[in-house]
Amino acid sequence: MATARDTAGPGPDRTVLVTGGAGFIGSALCRHLIRGGHTRVINLDKLTYAGSLTALAEVESSPRYRFVQGDIADRSLVAALLRDESIDAVMHLAAESHVDRSIDGPAIFIETNITGTFHLLEAALDHWRSLEGEARARFRFHHISTDEVFGDLPFDDSRFSEESPYRPSSPYSASKAAADHLVRAWHHTYGLPVVLSNCSNNYGPYQNAEKLIPLTITRAMRGETLPVYGNGANVRDWLHVDDHARALETIMRNGAPGASYAVGAREEHSNIAVVAAICDLLDERAPLVSVRSRRDLIRFVTDRPGHDRRYAIDPAKIERELGWQSEIRFTPGLAATIDWYLREAASAVQPPGTFLRA
Ligand code: NAD
Repeated sequence: MATARDTAGPGPDRTVLVTGGAGFIGSALCRHLIRGGHTRVINLDKLTYAGSLTALAEVESSPRYRFVQGDIADRSLVAALLRDESIDAVMHLAAESHVDRSIDGPAIFIETNITGTFHLLEAALDHWRSLEGEARARFRFHHISTDEVFGDLPFDDSRFSEESPYRPSSPYSASKAAADHLVRAWHHTYGLPVVLSNCSNNYGPYQNAEKLIPLTITRAMRGETLPVYGNGANVRDWLHVDDHARALETIMRNGAPGASYAVGAREEHSNIAVVAAICDLLDERAPLVSVRSRRDLIRFVTDRPGHDRRYAIDPAKIERELGWQSEIRFTPGLAATIDWYLREAASAVQPPGTFLRA
């Protein structure tokens, strides 16, 4: 929902440094901000295995968009960008984000998510201190975090909120929790105007094929077996990435300094229900001759160590205070995502391998 402040005056009213803008959520955020017309975007991304410029083709020729390949921990590069581009807000999404990879190799998660965030905070603090008047009042450092920092929930009606205690379970969620603590400390100790958001699992176009929904869609499209951890009972609260991008802009523009916001769609589904829904939607759209139903391809595999049972978000605060609400329900959002993968696979310009790495 656009607010009066969102739409003040023609042309860009802010320049935002988006870190990790070549990732799944970051690229959706860049597309959203450029489409909106009110924001200049400087996208700083290291282009790790998780980053791709393909998802940014729509914005790359906009005069309000610039891509810079680089590391958030490169203090002199970040300082130059903050100064030379007159940055009004940092939206920090760059991270190592895959839980399974954090179990196999946690070191890079500590380096990027904790040390990288520290370097970015220091550069942002120097920049903010150099600003005066309106520019100083407008500046925000927005840390994009996860609901996984709160640990897991039992199978009841409890939900995470901004007040939930931190109980991270995996190296990934522990590193994001540490980053949240650093961001809050830079606010309390140095006065840096920060905002934080903790969101639930995202889905939508251009997600890396290691994650549950794209992995299942792409394997099911090819008629391959569909691995599901444990007994598939783990529950996640699914948020469409475009809904999330709108929430992030709202928080960056209107969030109160020092505040955090829990972002979710009230769409809780077990992993097995998600996989079954993908099977049924694909059977309708692209039936296979080799199998009667893609549900027959489901295979339960050894569970992930320390696999959290359930995540669920209570988004009442962002709904009440900032007027944001999720608009994309899960079933139509999932169907649209499947249609996107089918179009990508059918397109000669965009061969399936680009986002369908399994
Ligand atoms: P992603 O893994 O798809 O993208 C991360 C991006 O960061 C990549 O483009 C990568 O190249 C870049 N990057 C990594 N290290 C970097 C560095 N040192 N310097 C600059 N760039 C670097 O992640 P995503 O799914 O888009 O998630 C974005 C953010 O949202 C992350 O901080 C993640 O913790 C958080 N989050 C994600 C989800 C989700 O469901 N995907 C849910 C909650 C929170």
